This record gives sequence, C-alpha cells and structure tokens, in this order.
Amino acid sequence: MSIHAPVNPQKVPLYADVPPEDWNDWRWQMRHALRNAEDLGQVIPLERMEKKGMEESLQKFRMAITPYYAALIDQNREDGPIRAQAVPNVLELVERPSDLLDPLSEEGDSPVPGLTHRYPDRVLLLVTRVCAMYCRHCTRRRTVGQEDSHGRPEEIDMALQYISSHEEIRDVLISGGDPFTLSTERLESILSRLRAIPHVEIIRIGSRTPVVLPQRITPAFAAMLSRYQPLYVNTHFNHYKEITAESAQACANLANAGIPLGNQSVLLKGVNDCPRIMKKLVHELLKIRVKPYYIYQCDLSMGIGHFRTSIAKGEQIIESLRGHTTGMAVPTFVVDAPGGGGKIPVMPNYVLSHSDRHTVLRNYEGVITTYTEPDEPYSECHCELCREASPSQENGVAGLLQDDRLSLEPTVLQRRRRNGSS
Ligand code: SF4
Repeated sequence: MSIHAPVNPQKVPLYADVPPEDWNDWRWQMRHALRNAEDLGQVIPLERMEKKGMEESLQKFRMAITPYYAALIDQNREDGPIRAQAVPNVLELVERPSDLLDPLSEEGDSPVPGLTHRYPDRVLLLVTRVCAMYCRHCTRRRTVGQEDSHGRPEEIDMALQYISSHEEIRDVLISGGDPFTLSTERLESILSRLRAIPHVEIIRIGSRTPVVLPQRITPAFAAMLSRYQPLYVNTHFNHYKEITAESAQACANLANAGIPLGNQSVLLKGVNDCPRIMKKLVHELLKIRVKPYYIYQCDLSMGIGHFRTSIAKGEQIIESLRGHTTGMAVPTFVVDAPGGGGKIPVMPNYVLSHSDRHTVLRNYEGVITTYTEPDEPYSECHCELCREASPSQENGVAGLLQDDRLSLEPTVLQRRRRNGSS
C-alpha cells in the first residue's frame, strides 16, 4: 500500500455497503467501533486460541477500534504494526514485578480530580476517559477506557477554578482519554473558559484522533480550535503505515487553520523499534507538516511489558537519525521517570572530553573534532531579566549553575542524620 492511499472500506466485507457519508462521519465511526472478539472476527481472521486470549484480556482493559483503523490492519500478517496496537493480546494478562498502576504518579501530584500539577508553570488537565481507539500500550489504562465517561462538569469546574487561582500556571495541556472525542460544543466551552484566564498563555491538546479517527478533524472543527490560539496539537503516530490520505488531510486541516502540530511516538517492540521504520516515520510526518517531537520509552504500566524495549534501543534510533537526516526530523527521546520525576532526555554522547581550552566532540560520522573555548569563558550576565530575578528562582541543577549553592541533596540523607546536621 502506498503511504498516502485512502483507506478502502470496500476491501472489508463488513463495511462494503457503508455509504461514504456514514464512513466519513466521525460519530458513525465511534458508534460502530469494534468492541469484542466477535465483532473483530468479522474484520480480520482470528484463530480460536487468539479469540480466547482476547476475551480474557478484555476482562481487564476494554477494546475499541474504529472501523477506519480496523480497515488499516493487514489481513495477512498476525504481527503487523496496526494490529499490535489495536488488538487485545493474552500477554496483557502478564503482570511483572516492575509493573505499576500509575507509573508516572499522576495521582500523587493531583490537587483536584482530573488535574496534575507537577511542574511549576504548567498543568495536565484530563477532560475525558474516552478514546476513539483504546491503544493496547496505553500508559493511562488504569482509568482510560475503564468506562466511557467524560469528565464530570463539577470536576472540570474545580480544575478550571484551580488554574484560575494559580497565577504561575502559564501552560495547560488538555488530555484524557482523547479530548477530541468530546462534542465540539463541550470542548469549545472548556477552551473558552481557559482563554478567559489571563495568565494562561498557551493551550496544548494531546489527541490521537488524527491517527485513528481522522474524520473528526473537519475544517469547521479546526476553525473552532483556531479561535483559541496560541494552541498546539500533539498527536501520536507510531508507524508510517498510519499515515494515509485521511490522516494527512486531518493534519492539513489543522495546519491550514494555523495550528502547529507535533508528534509523540511511543517506542514499541515489534511495532517501531527499528531505526529504518522510525526514519521513514519522521520523514513522512514532516511531509504532512507534523514536527516529530518526542519518542517516549514505553512506561511501566500494568500488562504492557511485552511492548517494552531496552532504553538502548531508543538511543540507537537517535544515533541513526541525528546528522543522518534533517535536524527538524529528529525528536527528543525521553524516559518519563517512574514515580513522577518527569521526562528525562536520553541521547548518545557527543561530547568526548574537555579541558579549559578545548571541548572534544564527535559527529554522526565518527569524526572527532575540537572546539576552542573563549579566552575568558566566564562572564556574568547583566541582562534585564537576570537583574530582576532573585537568585533562588532556578530549580534543580540549573540553579546550581547560576547561584552560590553548593549541592542538591535528598531530604533523607543517612550521612546528615549520623553527623546530626539535619
Ligand atoms: S489515545 Fe492515548 S489515552 Fe487513548 S488509549 Fe491511546 S494512548 Fe491511551
């Protein structure tokens, strides 16, 4: 199949008679999502044992596959990348000692239901538990898809009230579930209330609908979003086979409305853990005006251990991209720290050594080069922002670089307890 070929429902007997006006209607697609092994068996061949395993795993995490995404599944391959992301697998029942219910500790940093406030200036606002498709690798599977429910109005009110009363919040990331599964009116009401908060500078939305339900992104819907600029959309393509005429059009509708687009992939064993697949994916993304933004190391969520790769695989992928292709095509590979430490970038080491005079670096070809440092490397910054800032404003390691503090220490340090200095 060529990458930009439209998905042909005619090739699936179940959808052969669906009129185009239904097929292209996002609500029809959601109403007809495949939700059990019997439904799915009408679209792709399923072995008896596979069906049994699927039914068992559906006891723990529900299934929903839009007819559009189901029609993308390769009928002849049991290990295809679309199928692996959509179809339940008995391996989801395997729980490993390292598996965690809430691997990113989002609930630990939640001052009111549906809102995570971890970083000083930004929050995560979860507005629904519904997605058009329930990805088998979902990190929020503890809540997403457990029941088809959007955020309750009183919860949204509480979250917006919290944002309104915290002037340090300048960036709100709306996620879920998938926020684009809300009705246009309901989503617009949340956006307009957020825009009315003077200190909210930017709004970001995470949505997989351009990938699994591109019919949702009509020009009218994109125009509604564009009324709440600056607004950014991050989507979630994991494989170049997800880029079709329909998903390309969905992204074009957003880009034409002036909405910048980024992509967050998850590194998944058997789906995209190959430098060549990732390179083709990032090239195809740029062609549809989507900037590759992150590759996430797969989280430690319950029942998705079979999707995990080593961290080294992500480093290998970045090694194969940086310098080998356009810089804009290279995403940041991150490990979202278990326990709530946030995203930690990981990349191959390009700095080989230092002296006062030289920094020794290597490039993607293996060429080793030196950069000569300036004669007086230290110079204090006197810009107006530094003059106004208090020394303690920088957190973490950045703070150590800027002020007179000597160290960062854990709150509990046995050595300090022993010598009585804490
Ligand atoms: S779209 Fe996102 S939130 Fe929804 S199931 Fe997939 S990974 Fe989870």
